[in-house]
Amino acid sequence: MNYIINKIKSFFTIIYSFVAQKTQGAIVLEYHSVNPNSKSFLSITPEAFLKQMLFLRSNNWNIISLLDLVTLIENGNEIPDKTVVITFDDGYKDNLDHAFPILEKYKIPATIFVPSALVGKSMVNREGYSLDLLSWDELSFLCQSNLITIGSHTATHAVLAGLDEDVSEAEISESKKNIEIKLDIECTLFAYPKGKNDENSRLLSKKYYKAAVATVPDRVDKNCDLYTIPRRGVYNYTSFIKFKTLLFR
Ligand SMILES: [Zn+2]
Repeated sequence: MNYIINKIKSFFTIIYSFVAQKTQGAIVLEYHSVNPNSKSFLSITPEAFLKQMLFLRSNNWNIISLLDLVTLIENGNEIPDKTVVITFDDGYKDNLDHAFPILEKYKIPATIFVPSALVGKSMVNREGYSLDLLSWDELSFLCQSNLITIGSHTATHAVLAGLDEDVSEAEISESKKNIEIKLDIECTLFAYPKGKNDENSRLLSKKYYKAAVATVPDRVDKNCDLYTIPRRGVYNYTSFIKFKTLLFR
């Protein structure tokens, strides 16, 4: 029954997005893995990713970095219509192998959020699939491209909502410090693991970062709260037509 209800909902979302054709402000897309071999719901194929990036480029979307979007909001400037921002969570190794060549070819900036204590290791998702994570050397290579910004995703990918303040602060501050030391960069952006945040984690992220992204699927306008920037996720079940609804609703 739920399956049928979801199908009906999805059908009306698609119809609505193509009738409404909203283009004001920005959409921040949240990716995880781009991988031809993974069965994880977090992984999309390189072909799907290429098709999505080509759609954005060939339809004149204003593709900017997350940091540039944050600067627009900080300065109270209008966000140009059809602005889109690309982000990746967790720092999977396939971001370098399969997403980066496409980003580089089409000059598309992106931000990768890494859990600093897991760099060079692997992560197992809720379905039990394990995916390798980027090493410090690989992150350093990506930084040098000037297309990729590295942000923090805590130290251990801890879900912060409801966590003790001391533990939260260590997760939020240690990851920033480690990323800055290992990569010799300034780490100013943060992503809450699983998008989950509470007042405490929002205040702490404000103490250490310029901005933090969450996963509420809204559009972004100039009045957006910089510590709960909305994002829309792209997963292996996101068909191309659904991808377009992420942009236009
Ligand atoms: Zn994550």
